[in-house]
Amino acid sequence: MFGLKSECVLKVDEEFHDLEEYQGRVARWCPGCGDNGILAATQRLCRDEQLPPEKTVFVSGIGCAARFPHYMGTYGFHGLHGRALPTAQGVKIRRPDLKVFVNMGDGDCCSIGTAHWIHAVRMNMNMVAMLHDNNIYGLTKNQVSPTTPKGMTTATTPHGSVLREMNPLTATLGITNVSFVAQAVEWVPDLLYQVIRAAYQHKGFAFVRILQRCPHFMPTLFDSLLSNPDDIMVLDSDDGVKLSEATAKVYKTREPHDTADLNLAREVAGTEGKVPVGILYRNASVPCYDELRKPARLHTPEQARTVLDRAFDRFGIFPGASGTRHGTGDETDRRTDA
Ligand code: SF4
Repeated sequence: MFGLKSECVLKVDEEFHDLEEYQGRVARWCPGCGDNGILAATQRLCRDEQLPPEKTVFVSGIGCAARFPHYMGTYGFHGLHGRALPTAQGVKIRRPDLKVFVNMGDGDCCSIGTAHWIHAVRMNMNMVAMLHDNNIYGLTKNQVSPTTPKGMTTATTPHGSVLREMNPLTATLGITNVSFVAQAVEWVPDLLYQVIRAAYQHKGFAFVRILQRCPHFMPTLFDSLLSNPDDIMVLDSDDGVKLSEATAKVYKTREPHDTADLNLAREVAGTEGKVPVGILYRNASVPCYDELRKPARLHTPEQARTVLDRAFDRFGIFPGASGTRHGTGDETDRRTDA
């Protein structure tokens, strides 16, 4: 026997997004490319955090890593070389309700995009920036990048790279307003996932450098690290990453760390020999530009048209329309008087 109609309650379950919803096109990276692992960890994060696909945006520049937005089942913007960060900042300042992620290669971020990188750290807007660092330009076929190790032979350095490679971690940690810096290697999925998740949960600009294999152009680059897991130094802190038992058995080199200590983070980032992984620095109290500069309310289409018309009219030339402004106004007056 059913109860009274008034007792009926229509309960609509909240929509659950499963992993498939975050999967876009089939990835076309080379077999064994480390970008595949970064993609898998990111899709898992989106599922676990239940990010609404229609409120999530992946922004990229140009390069192999920049294909990332195509492979996500979210919104995306595949932009210009080196310009992923200002594009992402534009999205965030106008639509603070969106979750914004940025995927850049080392050429993209550390070479042509360097100025944007510096100011993105300083502005500390809420987003996750992933640096896929394979130490080479892959898409454009094997040119030296700022992170290519000294002595490495590439298409543009046939006798070996002559400059010492730059360190994106120490560089980022030296920028005013830095608020989150972490490092992971893509071949340890447990660690990678936790680092990306911590970056997502951080309030501010979270910079994650991910050492990424490029088997096509740098087939032996990380061989030593892969065969000597003890050279990977896991940073241990109460608020750091917590490795699974299985991962912890393989990666036994631990270093006590304090993620609130900027000087310590800089020291660890510059460590020679061992590769530090985990959260190097975290400071959620740094002001965020997108919170300091609240966007104006969104215009209706009619309002937007009126504003645009007014802006265009300032620069229009209207022969015979005496008194119509052109630029500062003086030029138009001279033309109409002539
Ligand atoms: Fe990946 Fe290198 Fe192939 Fe690019 S060239 S898809 S980075 S393996």
